[in-house]
Amino acid sequence: MSACLLALIAVALSFPMVAAAQHPHWEYEGEHGPTHWGSLDPAFHACDAGKHQSPIPINDPTSKDLPAIEFSYQATPLKIIDNGHTIQVTYAPGSFITVNHHKYELQQFHFHHPSEEEVNGRSYPVVAHLVHKDSTGKLAVVAVLLDEGKANEVIQAIWTHLPEEQGKEVERVGLTVDATKLLPARGGYYTFTGSLTTPPCTEGVTWFVLKTPSQISGDEIAVFAKHYPHNARPLQAVNRRTIVMSH
Ligand SMILES: [Zn+2]
Repeated sequence: MSACLLALIAVALSFPMVAAAQHPHWEYEGEHGPTHWGSLDPAFHACDAGKHQSPIPINDPTSKDLPAIEFSYQATPLKIIDNGHTIQVTYAPGSFITVNHHKYELQQFHFHHPSEEEVNGRSYPVVAHLVHKDSTGKLAVVAVLLDEGKANEVIQAIWTHLPEEQGKEVERVGLTVDATKLLPARGGYYTFTGSLTTPPCTEGVTWFVLKTPSQISGDEIAVFAKHYPHNARPLQAVNRRTIVMSH
């Protein structure tokens, strides 16, 4: 009996702490907004103290002969989560990029409105972040800027099948999407080191921002904006980083 009671107390005591450790509450404005992220949780320290944070303004990059990003994406079963910060598609194993013989596997992609990236002073209505991981756990994010224009097939499929509930991943059985169709025709890019743009703002992320935007329709922008009117972290200090651009 007493062991049972102790177990209950232990569960009652530990459960909120576990929940807090896994999901510290943060937002894009107000008391839990970007300028406070670093003090919301010790695990978010880098959001304040980091010197290589993202996003950063992309101005006057140095042009260099850089290797192309080779995209080897396949269609993935459509799994979507509205995680309270963005709408995200989970990618099945087997899709990857290779840059300079270095392979990064695609994990997921998600969206920000407006784009967090600013290129020569210009931001875009939406950006897609394709998050990749190499065999050692190092992250590389490919950012595809989305300018208003034609409807996008991949985005249309996701928007049509959005989850009814936040925080719960849904799988739309029988449907697939292919991230290849988010990519622009040309693969030139800007690259620099940075961080995750959401808490815990972990650094050591390699960024590849594609120079050519893809397109998204005004209606598609409006659907996302209804869910997330502004889910973009403000620009961070560049500090001593160089931004390099492929030809
Ligand atoms: Zn992102």
